Amino acid sequence: MRQHPLSEQIAALLRAGESNIGVARKLGVDRDTVARHRRRLGLPGYRTTAASTHCRHGHPFAGNTGYSAEGWRYCLACVRERDRARKRRDYVPGARPPRPSTARSLDEVAVQRAAAGDPPDTLSPRERAAAIRALRGQLTAQVIAERVRCSVRTVYRRTGAAA
Ligand SMILES: [Zn+2]
Repeated sequence: MRQHPLSEQIAALLRAGESNIGVARKLGVDRDTVARHRRRLGLPGYRTTAASTHCRHGHPFAGNTGYSAEGWRYCLACVRERDRARKRRDYVPGARPPRPSTARSLDEVAVQRAAAGDPPDTLSPRERAAAIRALRGQLTAQVIAERVRCSVRTVYRRTGAAA
């Protein structure tokens, strides 16, 4: 039986020391598929060494390296991904979110004043965010920033638009 050329490509990259995820990204295949090939070939699991340029999950180490107290190198991108995954796991739909101690009720008048270009001095971040959302889509980020008296960056952050 003739082997699929993709299988040969996967095998070649794995034999060259590439990680499962590295192979998956390079060839656009599922990482579980690559893992199956690694098992079939009897190759040991990918290990990072001092010479590795990428972590076992395929993140480049350059500018992305942390060191443990013992001096071990670790991947900061992986730490961030784990943190995010943990937050998602902790999220329970319908559960009451933890209430920040500084939370105030939203002052609708303050929001309207901010949206109209006359933000009160006591405007809270939440009220500012509400005013920005109210103006979203009607004005440019620059104009919203001047009106609500915040940075353009804040406008982008609150509207979720790409900077
Ligand atoms: Zn990583």
